[in-house]
Amino acid sequence: MTTLEHRLTRLVRDVPDFPKKGIVFKDITPLLADAAALREATKAMAMPYWESSIDHVVGIESRGFILGAIVARALDVGFIPVRKPGKLPAKVMSLEYALEYGSDTLEVHADACMSEARVLIVDDVLATGGTAGAAGELMERLGARVVGFSFLLQLSALKGRERLAERRVESVLTL
Ligand code: AMP
Repeated sequence: MTTLEHRLTRLVRDVPDFPKKGIVFKDITPLLADAAALREATKAMAMPYWESSIDHVVGIESRGFILGAIVARALDVGFIPVRKPGKLPAKVMSLEYALEYGSDTLEVHADACMSEARVLIVDDVLATGGTAGAAGELMERLGARVVGFSFLLQLSALKGRERLAERRVESVLTL
């Protein structure tokens, strides 16, 4: 682990049994509250895509909004929110995807980007990859090209990277 990874890892707090029993929640709020850590973490999330001609960063609600907006600034591109159902005001494109138990839905504005726009998808944590994969598929249905994904943290035991297999996946921390 590099010095940066050490410093950032210490600012991600494990909260056992949240939001339900058996899940160890990776709470990034201590990292968000630290100016240097926030700056360096988001810079490290943007860096691999510096020369990838990204047109938009797509952030997944809700922690992906916080990090994604800063990554968009770092790449000097615009930001597109992907949200839970019923939150976006104009015409949306929706995608329902399977969870371990049941299903969930993500939405994006139907006119969020031009066809062929090159997008980078950002979230805080890559776990099973279901959410990020669905966001990628949603953007592709809009006609965008998903250049890759950038996460603050990936939980390698859950094999999310394999689920996003053929795409470029970057994360600052791997735990
Ligand atoms: P997944 O679809 O399984 O990759 O889960 C990713 C989404 O759920 C992301 O939006 C994460 O913010 C959230 N998430 C999943 N597992 C955790 C965890 N252990 N700690 C914090 N967030 C998590």
